[in-house]
Order: sequence, then structure tokens, then C-alpha cells
Amino acid sequence: MNTVKQKTQNFPKRLQILGDIKQAILTSVNLEDTLSHVLELLQRLVPFTQADIAEYDYDMQEIHIITSTNHEPLPLAYDNRMPLSFSNHPSSNNWPEIKYIPELSRQAALSPVQSILLTRGIHSIAVASLFVQDTLLGSLNIGAEKPNAFTQEHLNILQEVAYLISLRLQQAFTEKQQQKHLLNLEALVELRTAELQEMIDKLAEVNKLKNEFMAAISHELYTPLNAILGKIENMNEAVYGPLTEKQQRASTVIMDNSYKLLKLINNLLDVSHLEAESLSLYLKEIDVVTVSHELLNIIRRNAQIKNLQVFSQLPSKEIHITADEDRFRQILLNLLENAVKFTPAGGKIGLEIRENEADQSVDFIVWDTGIGINPDKIDFIFMLFTQVDGRLAREYEGTGLGLPLAYRLTQLHDGQISVTSEVNKGSRFTVTLPVAFTAVESTA
Ligand code: ADP
Repeated sequence: MNTVKQKTQNFPKRLQILGDIKQAILTSVNLEDTLSHVLELLQRLVPFTQADIAEYDYDMQEIHIITSTNHEPLPLAYDNRMPLSFSNHPSSNNWPEIKYIPELSRQAALSPVQSILLTRGIHSIAVASLFVQDTLLGSLNIGAEKPNAFTQEHLNILQEVAYLISLRLQQAFTEKQQQKHLLNLEALVELRTAELQEMIDKLAEVNKLKNEFMAAISHELYTPLNAILGKIENMNEAVYGPLTEKQQRASTVIMDNSYKLLKLINNLLDVSHLEAESLSLYLKEIDVVTVSHELLNIIRRNAQIKNLQVFSQLPSKEIHITADEDRFRQILLNLLENAVKFTPAGGKIGLEIRENEADQSVDFIVWDTGIGINPDKIDFIFMLFTQVDGRLAREYEGTGLGLPLAYRLTQLHDGQISVTSEVNKGSRFTVTLPVAFTAVESTA
């Protein structure tokens, strides 16, 4: 009767303390502080002399005592209950959740750990496994000087508290894993960034070498070609004596091809200067209408050969803008030459100039009724050495330098270039240049 009464009196106390333990675990911030508080609370329900909570670190293959009520923890976690091999996580199915030895001295054979405990005056021990799902995370160990210190009810409480601790350990484990994952990710990002930077540096170095090589080789070609052109022009103009008709035709072929080569070399030199950001602009006020008339006259010869109609919509008055005249010519000429090149015989090409009063700029529109550009290729035409279609490139000679140069030279003038095109219908390139370009000249 007496026992029953005592149990009934203890019931609210047990509920209250278990509630406090649950609360401590739910609101826990620091694992060590929380678990040490849990052991204090548990001691009010279970009469142990000392207790500790051990955690198994599978990665490091270590046992870590998280907290202990004594400065010298119980070495129970190191007892034969430890997983034999850390690599085999024990399953809760074959692992006892609670092991209780009421009187160590009555054990037939003592383990080394148990012998140590006896010499420390500990007689009864209980070990609760801390499992989450099937993973053994550690153990909650208690020991008492008194033999038979723990009743079944104490063991039930121990098991209940062990379960709550497991949940907190699992949370810490997940946090640790996440932290580790984050650190790994950080390290990986750092590594990749370093690799990328190295690659960028190498590419910049290679690019610099390529530009230097291109500039050097172009220069080496430029000088002899100029000498050839000088002589052949003289020959063509009969400076060295009269030519037969055949000789005249041959010298014209040599001259035309030398000019083509010269143009290519000049383009390469321009590209290498643009890449090295060492291209200088010689700015002055130019009348773009007069220049445009001149450019149309230049391309008319080739247009006529292909039987193309050339249209122009140029204002009757002069329009002045600040620009590098040679570069301005180069931009428009590249577009006009492309219009002639990519328009089949019988087609039309044109140049239109429009003033934009509102934003003080001028539009130069070069259009044609030619082969057009595939929509999926249009984004690439301003990139260096891009010929939209290899098959076409063989049909229409070129190097893929004209548009990128026009693009970059326009940019250098603080302008913009855009294109609309439809396959087999034609293309329309628009260069917009500011009237008053005041940017600082790029330095050589
Ligand atoms: P290139 O004319 O020397 O090949 P460009 O840089 O001037 O090089 O032009 C790049 C490519 O863009 C051309 O090869 C051609 O495929 C395409 N393209 C340029 N202008 C036109 C145009 N008016 N019509 C159709 N395609 C064009």
C-alpha cells in the first residue's frame, strides 16, 4: 500500500521533470549545455551517482563524451557494447536499447571497463543506446554506488530520456552534416574560381601573344606587299614602257589581288590594335552626306558588274558629325561591300541616312534584297572570324573580319550597330552615331 502511495505521489513529479527535459531539448541552442542540464533534471528522477552522454563519431572513428556529471566520465561507452567496427553501423534490431547490470561484482566475467568501475566504487550500471532510425549515435550511461540501484521504472524513464536525447543528437548531426556540406561547397567554389582565374590569365596571355603575332606577321606582309603594289601600279600605268594587251590584263589581275591582300592585312592590323586597345581615333567634324556619296560611287562598279540596282536616300543638305573619317568610311564600306557580296544578281541594295533630332544622332541604314541571315546565326555575325555558313563562305569569299571591325569601330565612336534580316528576303544594318562625339581619343 505504502509503495503504491509513493508511486502516485511521484507521478506528477515525473511528468513535470520529463516535461522540463522535453522543453530543454526543444528549445536547445547549445548541445553541451542542454545535455548537461538534462542530466541534472534526470538525477531528480533516477538515483545515479554519476552519468554521462557519449557520442560516436563514425567519420573520425572516435567516441566523444558530450557531457558528464563527473570530472572523470564513466568509460562505459568504451565497453564491449561499442560497435566492433565503426564502418558497420549497428542496427537497432540487433542492439539492446537498454542494458542493466544491477551488481557488477556478481558478474561471472568482468570486462576491463567493468573492473575499473568496481575499483571506483560503482556497483550498478545502466546503458541506454541512443538511436535515431537505425543509426546508433551514442549512449546515455548511468552508474550508482549502490547495488540494485535502479528499478524498472527508472529504466523506463532512462529509455524515454534517451529517446529525447537521440532526437537532439540527430539534429546536431544534421546541422554538422549541413555545415560540412557547406564547407565542402565553399572549398569547391573557391577551387573552381581559382582554376577559372588561372584559365582566364592563361587565355589573356595566349590572346596577347596571338595579337602580337598577328601584328608582327601583318606588318611583315604589309611592307613587301606595298613594294609589289608600287611596282605593279607603275607597270600597269606603263611607267616602265608600253605593255601588250596580255601584260596589261595580267598586271591588272596582280594589282586587284594585291589590293585584296592589302585590305586583309589592314583588317588584321586593325583587329590586333582593337584587341590591344591601342587603336587611335583621329576625330574631326565630317560631312557624312558627302562621304556617303563617295562610298556609293566606290561600290557602284562592283554592283554594276552584278547587275544590282543601287538606291540612296541621302539628305540634300550637309550633315556634320564628329568622327574619324577613315574609320567612318571603313564602317560603311564594310556594310555596303557585304550588301553587294551577299545579294544575288538582279537584286537591290541601298544606303539611307536619317537624322534623329531628339537624341542628336544619325542613323546610317545599309539594306539589301540578298540571301539574308539565318535567325540562329545572327547573334554571331559580329564576332571575329565568323562566317555564318562555311558552305556560303566558299561561295562568297571573305574572312569574317568586316562586321566585327564595323561593330567595334562603331562602339569606339560611342555608337551602336544593329541588324534585322530575313533569309532570301534581305538584310538591314543600322549604324547609329552621335552627332557630337566627345570621347577622349584612345591612346596608342
Ligand atoms: P566576310 O564578309 O568577310 O565573310 P563579315 O564579318 O563582313 O565577313 O561578315 C560575316 C558574315 O555575316 C558573312 O560571312 C555572312 O555570312 C554574314 N553577312 C554579313 N553581311 C551580310 C549580308 N548583307 N547579307 C547576308 N549575310 C551577311
